[in-house]
Amino acid sequence: MATDYDASRKTEEEQREESLEAHRLTSGEQDKTSGKVDEDETELAETYELPGADLSHESLDIEVTPRQADEFTCTGCFLVQHVSRRTAPGVDLCVDCA
Ligand SMILES: [Zn+2]
Repeated sequence: MATDYDASRKTEEEQREESLEAHRLTSGEQDKTSGKVDEDETELAETYELPGADLSHESLDIEVTPRQADEFTCTGCFLVQHVSRRTAPGVDLCVDCA
C-alpha cells in the first residue's frame, strides 16, 4: 500500500518536472529561433498522423479518430487539415493546395 502511494506520488512529481523541463527547453529553443517554426512543426505533425495510411499499427490501442469537428479532408492532398488551413468556408481545400 505504501509503495503504491509513493509510486503515484513520484509519477506526479516526475510528470511535473518533465513538463517544466520541456517548457524550459521549448522556450529556450524559441528564443534562439523565431518561435513560429516550432508552432508550424507541431501543426504539421498533427495533420500527418491523421490521414489513416499510418494508423494500421496503432489501431489496436488507439481509437482511430476519422475527423474532428474542426478538421476537414482536403480534396487536393487528401490530408485531414485543420479548418484554419481551409482556403475558404465551404471549400475543402487547404492553403497548400490552393
Ligand atoms: Zn491540401
